[in-house]
Parts: sequence; structure tokens; C-alpha cells
Amino acid sequence: MNTIQHWIGGTLITGASTRTAPVWNPATGEQQAEVLLAERADVEAAVAAANTAFETWGDASLSKRSGILFAFRQLVHEHIDDLAAIVSDEHGKVLSDARGEVQRGLEVVEFACGIPQLLKGEYSDQVSAGVDSYSFRQPLGVVAGITPFNFPVMVPMWMHPIAIACGNTFVLKPSERDPSVSLRIAQLWQQAGLPDGVFNVVHGDKVAVDALLDSPTVTAVSFVGSTPIARYIHERATTTGKRVQALGGAKNHAVVLPDADLEFAANHLTAAAFGSAGQRCMAISATVAVGDAGDALVKRLQEKAATVRVGPGRDESSEMGPVITAEARERIVGYIDSAEKQGATLVADGRNLHIGKGFFVGPTVLDHVTADMDAYRNEIFGPVLSVTRVDTVDDAIAFVNANPYGNGTAIFTSSGEAARRFQRKVTVGMIGINVPIPVPMAYHSFGGWKDSLFGESHIHGPEGIRFYTRAKVVTARWPHVEHTVAASYHFPTAT
Ligand code: NAD
Repeated sequence: MNTIQHWIGGTLITGASTRTAPVWNPATGEQQAEVLLAERADVEAAVAAANTAFETWGDASLSKRSGILFAFRQLVHEHIDDLAAIVSDEHGKVLSDARGEVQRGLEVVEFACGIPQLLKGEYSDQVSAGVDSYSFRQPLGVVAGITPFNFPVMVPMWMHPIAIACGNTFVLKPSERDPSVSLRIAQLWQQAGLPDGVFNVVHGDKVAVDALLDSPTVTAVSFVGSTPIARYIHERATTTGKRVQALGGAKNHAVVLPDADLEFAANHLTAAAFGSAGQRCMAISATVAVGDAGDALVKRLQEKAATVRVGPGRDESSEMGPVITAEARERIVGYIDSAEKQGATLVADGRNLHIGKGFFVGPTVLDHVTADMDAYRNEIFGPVLSVTRVDTVDDAIAFVNANPYGNGTAIFTSSGEAARRFQRKVTVGMIGINVPIPVPMAYHSFGGWKDSLFGESHIHGPEGIRFYTRAKVVTARWPHVEHTVAASYHFPTAT
């Protein structure tokens, strides 16, 4: 049995860890490895390595940092296929989807390659007689990232390329369910010339996370995962004075108006609901059909759900793979059972799909779902699409806004007026107009509203640069003898 170790100070380490967790192959249902679960001492060792590395990395020139980022970018680009294969084996997603996730992570690395431009400060000449003022931003020190299972490459890459480019050192605590790819990423950083200790990986559970949250050396925490844990991370880490961005779960609605191209909408909704077996934080899980769009849309969704090719992620002909664990399968099937009992109409039923002992659930469509049903109130995080019927676009906006989550949403329409009303009134952070999964490009920032994000800062893009740096403002005077004036006792004002 392969034991997956930590990566601290540039080497693989077992440290004080004795506990382990199983790593499954979701397509076969078999255990393929075990991962070490860090103790506090392991986290302290990683933080200490990062803190030592910060002494030099924090002073590395912009050209040195951007040179290493360019080299890392090239290596990730060359290894897209191997990284995707590691992701597919442990997560279960199909290879094309895994390649897509590496590509979206790579875009953040490319953004971070421009760090000399991104960190340019501001200068005001002669703010007072003989006085100039300028501001610039400096790194925070040791920062931590705690990430979910569903994007084991992309989500950590929302964080570490930017944090490192800004001059910080990084401790990653990836999901214990698909941990291997983070070690491959660590090796690629090393190969790119990143000094040891700048990027560290500790595997683990709550013990490791709490040790990071409580560490007096860690200055900032970026978290992505479910809402209860995001809320907890935000509360605990801010108590110890850290900067925190904690992105939580989601229930992403797509509003479909009767004037939409329904064939186009149904195609995109099917892909957005069932791609990655519905385990994307931006997956569409709730459709809101307005007026007489409902019947025609549901008929199409039923036909399309039946044609999705479900199979092992490594099979290039599969369009959708298994879900992450047997427990996840049980949870998803439980929500479908409850929806049926609570009065939803089961238009497509994925409960009885079995492929060997793999953790598969087929594409499922639930119609006539209401806001009080368990399958609507909770994030299912599986291949289940619900449909709710409302009368008007304003009813649809009110329905979306009443949901506690606010990550992503989409509208399908041919009306510019309706789309504009939707984008202005909806209380959601990321909005697609005839685009079902509106994940912003790396040079914009990513983040939801309400229970989908705790903290002020969205992730990557310009907000990422601000999150991982802090500002200094200098007011400077280089007096000539003839300019020297006596000090005055009133509050300084410009002259
Ligand atoms: P999770 O919350 O179970 O785990 C996320 C991380 O927190 C993991 O590293 C895990 O080890 C750690 N963790 C789990 N329980 C903990 C505890 N009690 N104390 C401290 N740390 C703990 O999430 P997951 O199941 O890995 O990922 C799926 C969730 O992530 C979904 O809710 C999904 O919507 C969300 N997600 C959100 C975004 C976003 O951008 N908002 C992106 C991806 C995933």
C-alpha cells in the first residue's frame, strides 16, 4: 500500500504522523493508497520551514520571482496530461475535465507571471514643498491554504502562485481524499527553481487545520470548502488575528425564461449539472423555469440526461465519472429518496446505476421541487438537477435571492432587459448570461456572496494580490539646508 507523505522544506517526510486515511479509486470502489494525517508537530515543522524560507524569499527580486513563475508555468503546461491522470484516478472525474481544471489553474500561474507589473506602487511628486509620497505593497509572511477535494489542482492554484509571486511562503493542506497531485505540484515548483521551504504540503484532517489556524506564525488563511467549515475557519482564524478568505458551498440557480433558446439552454444545463458528477462549486443544481418554459425544458432535460455517457474517468469516451466516496453516493441517493417522498416528480432517476463496485450515481432530474424540500434546502453536491416553476422573472429573482447561498447563477434569455434586471438585482457574486458556469478568468477575482464566502476578499485576480500583501505609504523629505524650516506643533498640512 502506497503511503502518501508530507512535503516539508523540499523533501517527503513522515514526521510525527501515525494516523492515516484511505484514498479510494472511486471508479472501482477499491482503496489505492493511504495518506498520512498530520499531527500538530508536523504542521509546526512545515510552518517553521516556511518561516525560515521567508527570510530570503521575501527579499527575492521581482525578476527572480517572475523567472521561477515562468519556469513553473512551462512545467505545468508540459505535465497537463500526467497531472490530469493523477486527478482522475483519485477524484474520479473524466480526463478531459481534469485537463480543463489544470488549464484553469495554469491561467492563474500565467496571471502571477506578471507580478512585476501587478506590484507596481504609486508615487505622488511634491505633495508638499520638498515632500513626496509613495505607496507599495509587501508580502505578509507565511500563509496557508486549506482546500477541497473537488478541484485538487485548480483550487490550490487560485492561491499559491499568487501568494508566492507576492513574496510569501506557503503551507498547503489539501483534501485528504485526493492528496497525491499536490506532491507532484510541489516537485514541479522545486524543478522550476523555487527555494525549498517556500511551498510545503501537509496532509491531514481537523488536527492539521486547527494547528494552522492557531499558529502565531501563519498570517493569512485562504480556505475553500463547505459552508459549515468555511464559517468555522473564518471565526477561529480571525480570533487569532489572521487575514481570512473562506469560500463556502453553493446552490447555483439557472433561470430559464420562455424567450430563451430552450435547446441551447437544455444542452448547457445538462453539462453544467452533470459535468464532474455535479461536484463543482459552480455546478448548476437548481433550475428555475419561468412561465411556459417549464414543460418544454423538462422534456429536453429528461432526454439529455438519458444520453450522458457515465463511466470510469480514465475511459476517454466517458462524459461523467463516479462521485468521490461511497458515503457521498449514499448522501446523494438519500436526497433523491427524500425529494420523491416530499412530492417532487422524478423525471430521470440515477439511483440504480451500478458499474462494478464504483461510486456511481446516474444523472437525475427532479421536477416540481419547492423551497421547503430537503433536496432544495441542502447542497447535494452530486449529479442531481432540480426544476422549480415560477410565473415571472421577478418571482425567479426573488426565489434565487431567498436562498442562503450566493456563489454563481445564470440566466437564459434573449431579452437584454430581463438579463440586465437579473444582473442588477440578484444577490449572487458570479453571474452568467447565457453562460451556465461563469467562472471568472484569472485576471478577474472569484467569489460568492452570503453563505458562499466569509471574509471581504474574493480569490485570485486583483483581489488575490491585495489579500496576500499589505501596503506601506512613505512620506519623504530630503531637505536642502536652505529649505530647512523649524518644526511646528500643529498637525502637518501641505504647504
Ligand atoms: P470540506 O469542507 O469537507 O473540506 C474542505 C477542507 O476542509 C479539506 O481540506 C478538509 O480536510 C477540511 N476539513 C473538513 N472538515 C473539517 C473540520 N471539521 N475542521 C477543519 N477542517 C476540516 O469540503 P469538500 O467536501 O472537500 O469539498 C466540497 C465543498 O467545497 C462543497 O461544499 C463545495 O461547494 C465547496 N467548494 C466551494 C468552492 C467555492 O469556490 N466557493 C469551490 C470548490 C468547492
